[in-house]
Amino acid sequence: MASLVPCPHCGMRPKEEFTIKGAAIARPGLHAGSKEWMDYVYLRGNPFGAYDEYWHHTSGCRRWLVVTRDTVTHEISASCDATVAVKTGVAA
Ligand SMILES: [Zn+2]
Repeated sequence: MASLVPCPHCGMRPKEEFTIKGAAIARPGLHAGSKEWMDYVYLRGNPFGAYDEYWHHTSGCRRWLVVTRDTVTHEISASCDATVAVKTGVAA
């Protein structure tokens, strides 16, 4: 059974059309130190449950999305355009 991903621009699309970038976590500030950048680039948690990730709709609208996926069931509960997510603080 194919998994469908809700793209806010294209509607429900097969997951094979997307490329997953990784965790949608807060980027360090302009003057952050090397420790903050090291953590941002290399360290990730191993969350249990809902998790925000950057997904690129590579074979569709070519927009970056923030997709909320359950790490246990892989069920997708929400998605929005990444530019909207940053503005609203979802992926600050
Ligand atoms: Zn799309």
